[in-house]
Amino acid sequence: MSNIAENLVNKLSGLTTSDTAPAAQSPSAPASPTSGTPNRGSVLDNGTNIGSALGRKSSMGGSRPSFAMTNNESERRGSAGSTGRVSRRGSNIVMTPSGAQAVYHTRTNQDIELPHAEKKTIADHLRKYESLLTLTPQRMRMIVHSFEETLDNGLQKDGQVVPMIPTFVFGWPSGKEVGEYLALDLGGTNLRVCLVTLKGQGKFEVTQTKYRLTEEQKQDEGQKLLDFCAECLDSFIRDTLGRTEADGILPLGFTFSYPCSQDRIDHGVLIRWTKGFGAPNIEGRDVAAMFMESLAKFNVPAELTALINDTTGTLIASNYVDPHTKIAVIFGTGCNAAYMENAGSIPKIDSIGLPKEQGMAINCEWGAFDSFDHQHLPRTKYDIIIDESSNKPGEQSFEKMIAGLYLGEIFRLIICELIDAGDLFLGQNTYKLEKAYAFDTAFLSLMESDITDELLTIIGVFTHFFGVETTLEERQFFKKLAVLIGTRSARLSACGIAAIVSKKGYLDEGCAVGADGSLYNKYPNFANRVHTALVDIFGEKGKNIVTHHAEDGSGVGSAIIAAMTKARKDEGFFVEY
Ligand code: ADP
Ligand code: MG
Repeated sequence: MSNIAENLVNKLSGLTTSDTAPAAQSPSAPASPTSGTPNRGSVLDNGTNIGSALGRKSSMGGSRPSFAMTNNESERRGSAGSTGRVSRRGSNIVMTPSGAQAVYHTRTNQDIELPHAEKKTIADHLRKYESLLTLTPQRMRMIVHSFEETLDNGLQKDGQVVPMIPTFVFGWPSGKEVGEYLALDLGGTNLRVCLVTLKGQGKFEVTQTKYRLTEEQKQDEGQKLLDFCAECLDSFIRDTLGRTEADGILPLGFTFSYPCSQDRIDHGVLIRWTKGFGAPNIEGRDVAAMFMESLAKFNVPAELTALINDTTGTLIASNYVDPHTKIAVIFGTGCNAAYMENAGSIPKIDSIGLPKEQGMAINCEWGAFDSFDHQHLPRTKYDIIIDESSNKPGEQSFEKMIAGLYLGEIFRLIICELIDAGDLFLGQNTYKLEKAYAFDTAFLSLMESDITDELLTIIGVFTHFFGVETTLEERQFFKKLAVLIGTRSARLSACGIAAIVSKKGYLDEGCAVGADGSLYNKYPNFANRVHTALVDIFGEKGKNIVTHHAEDGSGVGSAIIAAMTKARKDEGFFVEY
């Protein structure tokens, strides 16, 4: 099998396991937690990450294990004699160790007569999408301006579209935080439980297990969803860590990355679900109190110390290892940012009487920018379709143009439009492409990283996952379309970052932006595109703002915040929060 084909199999198998976070397996990695796994979830991976021994300003290592099939084995499996599964047109099917099937092609299907649109038709379409999806520097500066105003409004009053939520995380970490903490991360796609050992000076160690959330769980009764989280945590503590009550009750940071209004750090009323969640009977209620109920129900030996958002955790964790970090952004299923504000610049909390210079981390919830009125963002009809067919029409407008949950769907809607116009896949059965959200954003990443002349990875994506054949011209068009969608997402994100930079006056001195989430970490060129956009917005000085892969906010960050909270209370500062 050629290297290219082997890569494709690797990439495709990576996709089918839906694994997202790198987790370096250490010799001391815990035993497989499968035996004690709550039966409604499936364990994705587990392992131990060792925080950098170099301490501050370094990053956590680790790469997800991949597999490579030996030539012999692939030939054996791919040969007609042994499996009888050779497909038409010189393509073969192989089984990956995870049990998924992947297709590779030994030659292209360029020579095959597929009914297809004329070159000029495709070129015309591409020009149209270019003009719809491209953001000029001038347009970006207009967005930055309105974004900054929106951020200010959120700090002034409660109930604003972008809520600018005070997190009750008071100031930056000292870097000296130490101890063992549990962290639970209910992300948009996975549930992760971790034991974090903070060793001070930016050093830490993480042991973790991940569970996949099902679509049913996301829509299940609110308390049941939290019960599931408590069960997973309990199984992790007892089975993976081998701890019991006799070993003591560990403090827990719960990363709950949905907009919550807080007036203490161990309290948070869910304002609204985002990222496709819809579990009833939880919006408008105190998630922390509900989760404490679940912990009690299953006698989990853990005590909820802090309810945090992944952006806040990322901000604190990134600053713990690199104090130059002033802003954090998440690009995962959803999109959001956090930064540190002075209490004196948050008029809506004047009444609690904090000293004006006291730092308070703000969870912007900026995904809501331009919701409802839709006055500032250049929405296309595809963005509008996504919005109107979502479970939260009108909401999260900015997020719906940027985040991992939606980019693949934007691509799919455009493809479907061209199928309807009779310009793509003529005479082929396209039912798999016609299913809403069938095109994962990870496919856009795969397509953009295809550097082969024949675009072999793109052949694989369309044949293997959607059962359709493509011509080379079509594949070139798909790749360019992916570039347009990915670039628009990065440039819009840069507008949000620029608004915070401009508001806080960080441009001259410069600052680091900790960024995390699969879109940032895995989408080719995403970071470069954000950096180019910052220069388009600010000129050369834009180079002073540099994004980098953040520290693990929802694990390590949540532990540091739990430690900071404990230290603050021990010292008698703001104990009521
Ligand atoms: P969470 O939002 O649960 O914290 P992630 O940060 O892993 O999780 O983000 C998940 C989102 O990232 C999903 O919407 C998925 O489509 C997208 N995604 C996963 N892998 C990739 C990839 N290789 N390239 C781009 N997007 C990806
Ligand atoms: Mg996440």
